[in-house]
Amino acid sequence: MAIAIRPDLDHEELVVQTGERSGATMAVAIHSTRLGPALGGARLWRYERDEEGVADALRLSRAMTFKAAAAGLDLGGGKGVICAPSSSPPTGLDRQSILDDFGDLVESLDGRYITAEDVGTSTEDMEEIATRTSHVTGMPVDRGGSGDPSPFTALGVQAAMRAACTAAFGVSDLNGRVVTVAGLGHVGERLARGLAEDGASLILSDIDPAKAQLAEELGARWVGPDDALTTGCDVVAPCAVGGAIHAGNIEELRCRVICGAANNQLADESLAERLAGRGILYAPDFIANAGGLINVYRELHRSSAERATELALGIEATMARVFARAEVGGTTPLDAARELATERLDRPS
Ligand code: NAD
Repeated sequence: MAIAIRPDLDHEELVVQTGERSGATMAVAIHSTRLGPALGGARLWRYERDEEGVADALRLSRAMTFKAAAAGLDLGGGKGVICAPSSSPPTGLDRQSILDDFGDLVESLDGRYITAEDVGTSTEDMEEIATRTSHVTGMPVDRGGSGDPSPFTALGVQAAMRAACTAAFGVSDLNGRVVTVAGLGHVGERLARGLAEDGASLILSDIDPAKAQLAEELGARWVGPDDALTTGCDVVAPCAVGGAIHAGNIEELRCRVICGAANNQLADESLAERLAGRGILYAPDFIANAGGLINVYRELHRSSAERATELALGIEATMARVFARAEVGGTTPLDAARELATERLDRPS
């Protein structure tokens, strides 16, 4: 059964569906197609209640609109969420059924939404989805795709971090900076490696204890997930799921900069003011983590990996503009980043 809703929010469209084969609840939220088709990853995640998955789709799709607009891409904002039936990731035929159902849902939207990988999905999953719809990006390189976007995301986050360190400490060089990376998945591990190459002193954390091996390899300090954000350091990079900064830990933060890959790092946007009040510089997530979207975009426009790299590195300049704008306007960087994106959305085409 599919329910298509035009929600009384600022979204254009929301479709919530029970997969015919899998019985899994899945949703696609289209926030805006003002600048182009709504592109955003498909998240496969276990939610306590399906409503939380739908809320995630709505929230994340909005962030995608701002991300694409601020990055100068001709894309709108959308997101897919698949509510995993159990806490362990589906495998084999169960996974195939879920992905085929999601592919049918994407196809039913006639290209208004284009999917890609996200937390819980991979390039291989995109290949399966592509058996049901052509509105897929993030395909493997040997299938003409742009492959895993994570290296480009990590590159962009590191570029954003240089801009944040310039604003907070007066120098962009990450050599000797103490950086905590919380979440060592596709992006976090790459970021940690890149930071180690730049000479940063690392504190690493993940809910998966097996990731402690990376800390050992990079000569980093390992801390448990409960202590990751509150351990003293220069920069915290939230690279796990959203809502890492919340009312319960904001007063405990012991860093000068927050700059990471996770989407929706602030559990509540009003926390941006409280961070500013505490003298903590927050690098807005949708600016910092645009590298993956930039890479996926090149798949649609058949441009090169070199061009995507150049644009991802350009996030340093975009982030610097955001901080400068916040400084001049006396606003938070989050407000300044939204203004930057909104200006582009409002510009007549
Ligand atoms: P991933 O699933 O590969 O990795 C997430 C990691 O976080 C896993 O290792 C997991 O064990 C760990 N984790 C989960 N909860 C944690 C917690 N409470 N504390 C510490 N670790 C925890 O995901 P990813 O692709 O690396 O993406 C990370 C974040 O960046 C997500 O929020 C994603 O939406 C965002 N993002 C990713 C990309 C990309 O290119 N992959 C692009 C933009 C934004």
